[in-house]
Amino acid sequence: MGERLTPREILDKLVGFPTVSRDSNLPLIEWVDDYLTSHGIEAHRHYDETNEKAALFAHVGPLEEGGVVLSGHTDVVPVDGQPWGTDPFSVVEKDGKLFGRGTCDMKGFDALAIWALVEGHYSDLKRPLQLALSYDEEIGCLGAPPMIRAMQPIVPKASAVIVGEPSMMQAVTGHKGGFGYHLHVQGFEVHSSILHTGVNAILYGAKIIEWVNEMNAANMAAEPGEIAAMFDPPFTTLHVGTIKGGTAHNITAKDCWFGVDFRVVPGDDVEDWRKRFLAKVAEVEALMQAVVPETKIALEERFQLPGLVPEENGEAESIVRRLTGDNASHVVSYGTEGGQFQEGGYSAVICGPGDIAQAHQPNEYLTVAQFEAGQGFMARLLDLLQG
Ligand SMILES: [Zn+2]
Repeated sequence: MGERLTPREILDKLVGFPTVSRDSNLPLIEWVDDYLTSHGIEAHRHYDETNEKAALFAHVGPLEEGGVVLSGHTDVVPVDGQPWGTDPFSVVEKDGKLFGRGTCDMKGFDALAIWALVEGHYSDLKRPLQLALSYDEEIGCLGAPPMIRAMQPIVPKASAVIVGEPSMMQAVTGHKGGFGYHLHVQGFEVHSSILHTGVNAILYGAKIIEWVNEMNAANMAAEPGEIAAMFDPPFTTLHVGTIKGGTAHNITAKDCWFGVDFRVVPGDDVEDWRKRFLAKVAEVEALMQAVVPETKIALEERFQLPGLVPEENGEAESIVRRLTGDNASHVVSYGTEGGQFQEGGYSAVICGPGDIAQAHQPNEYLTVAQFEAGQGFMARLLDLLQG
């Protein structure tokens, strides 16, 4: 029988693996697998197509349906260019805070979930407890859908999923969905003195970006619907986060690349927004092709994420409310894997330690108080599953 580690010891281990989304997460997954195996818990892996990343899931308690899944992601955002005061890949405790990349988002919860699974294995559970650790969450929640599909034939289907994104241990029942595209505007180069014969990819791209500004202004001005009113901001937002293009000040740019992301408030139709966006792209492309027919705008869909829809009498929500005593309604504006679990037929809720404001920041931290609150939550969950 392996050594039973404390949540804090598990957290130290997890943060020590620099599982930035662009890199492999296998060393972390292997460690978790070995740790669970040392306690006699069978862990299942599901690899991505590169074989450099894997999700891991495991089940303890009676081999039957109706359990609770603790869901976390193993990847973290990069630290490049961020001014860190400590080594981001080791946990440093100072002034009641645990500093380190991922302590808040979301290896703190992962550590608590792994701890709870091992505790559950040694308890007399009447209902199963499951662990589900994904990859590639931070680059558009790409890893959870294949993991969810892989889990279903292997472990008995649970009835509730707790996604431990930082929520200050409150029950979050809704978030926006969204989608994002990469655009490559392919123009036609001429000397800028005769720009009317060229197609400047930057200037045509700017027409789409200006449309983004117009949509944001119109959405902001509109009266929010009942569900939308729960959100801050209470409307769908469009965003351009990166752009590059052009080679010289006096050449009409041949290329311009940028991304457009949509965060769609529940109540708005994701497919409707997609149609409007594609229509705008087609309109601008037609303007370009009227000048030089071989120009175009190439599109690549980067991600698509369903929103988390507040459930009526949802089981996951009712479990979390019972364990936290939190009866208020909370929704958030960030995306999670919760909507993907809902699409997979699970009741899902978000509840995890830490404040999303600390996620992705330099000197990211989780307070010791939140980590302990999370451990208390897990202990009450284990009691509930033994009841
Ligand atoms: Zn996260």
